Amino acid sequence: MSQVTEVVKIRRKVLSEIARLAFEGKLQDHVEDILHTVVTEEGPRYRCCVHKERAVLKDRINLALSQPINTDLKVAAQNALEGKIADMPFVNVLPEACDRCPIDKFIVTDACRNCVAHHCINSCPKKAIAVVQNRAFIDKNRCVECGLCKRSCPYGAIIEVSRPCERACDLKAVVAGADRRAVINYDKCVQCGACKIACPFGAIGDRSVIVQLIQDLKHHKKVYAIIAPSFIGQFGLKVRPGQVINALKQLGFYDVQEVSFGADIVTVEETKEFAATVPGERSFMTTSCCPAFVGMVEKHLPELRDKVSSTVSPMIATGKSIKVDDPEAIVVFIGPCIAKKVEAARYAGVIDYVLTFEELAAMLV
Ligand code: SF4
Ligand code: SF4
Repeated sequence: MSQVTEVVKIRRKVLSEIARLAFEGKLQDHVEDILHTVVTEEGPRYRCCVHKERAVLKDRINLALSQPINTDLKVAAQNALEGKIADMPFVNVLPEACDRCPIDKFIVTDACRNCVAHHCINSCPKKAIAVVQNRAFIDKNRCVECGLCKRSCPYGAIIEVSRPCERACDLKAVVAGADRRAVINYDKCVQCGACKIACPFGAIGDRSVIVQLIQDLKHHKKVYAIIAPSFIGQFGLKVRPGQVINALKQLGFYDVQEVSFGADIVTVEETKEFAATVPGERSFMTTSCCPAFVGMVEKHLPELRDKVSSTVSPMIATGKSIKVDDPEAIVVFIGPCIAKKVEAARYAGVIDYVLTFEELAAMLV
C-alpha cells in the first residue's frame, strides 16, 4: 500500500487549493497565492530555500492546470479557466523538482576495510578498481556496471544505487539528461505513472484537468461521472458508496454510473471475439482494458499487436453508451490509473475528462 508521504501531501494540497479557488471563482486573481499558502515562510523546508520551494511549486501548479511548465501562473490560470489544455504529455518531469540523483551505480561505502584479499580488484574484468586513501576506489570511466565487485566483497562494502525513477520504469523510458535531470523518452514511455510514484522528490507528475472540468460543472453542463468499481475502497472504511455518489452530485455532476456496466458489455464482446478468432486467426488473445499494456505492446512488442483484443475497454464502452443516449453528455472517467488519460485522448469525443481518485478527492476537500 502506498504511503501518504510529504510528496503526496504537497501534491494533494496544490490540487485542493486549485480546486477550491476554481469553485469559488477566485483562481484567476489568486492563483499566485498558492505559492504562499502551500510554502510558508515558516516552513517546513525540503529544499535549500523558500525560493527554490516556490519554483518547484510553480512547476507543479502549471502541471495541475495542464499548461506548459514555464507558463506565467496568471496566464496558465486564464487558459485553464477557458478550458484550454496544452498539447503536452500526461506524465512530465518537473525540472525544478528533480534532484539530479547520482548516476554512479556502484559505490564503495565506509564498510570497506582495505582488506588483504582485495576480491573487488581481482573480480573486476575492466581493472576499474584501485586502492586510494586506504579504500577501494571505482574509476567510473572504466566501470561497465557489471556488479561483480559488489558480489565479491565479503563485507558487502560495495552497494548498488539506482535512481528511483529509472528503476521504476521497466521500459527504460526514463534516463539521465546531460545535466543529470530525469528525461522521459516518449517513444518508449506508455505513461503508466510508475516513475511518478517512485520519485521521492515528487519530480514527476501527471497533468490534471480539474479546473477545466470545474468550469463545465459550474456552467451546469450535463456532466456524467463514470467511476471505476475500485472507488469502494478509496475514501476510507467509513465512507459508503452512496455517500460518494451524493458527493459527486453535490459537486455538480448530472449523473453517476459505474464502469462495471461497460465491463459487462466488454465481457460479452470479447467472448465473441475470442470464439471467432482463437485459435483460427491467432494463437491467443489478450484483453485491451489496460492502456499501459496496450501501449507497451505497440511500442515494445509490435509483433504481438494482432493478439490484443480489438474490443474497447469498459471505460470506452460506458462512455459510448452514455453519448448515444445523451448527445449533450460530457463524460468524466474517475479511476485509479493515470494511463487512462492516454486512452481517453485516443477516443476524443467519447471520454471528455479523466480524473484520478486523488484529483477527485482534491475537489471534495
Ligand atoms: S528519482 Fe529521478 S526524477 Fe526523481 S529526483 Fe531522482 S533523478 Fe529526478
Ligand atoms: S513508462 Fe511509466 S514508468 Fe516509464 S517513463 Fe513512462 S510513465 Fe514513467
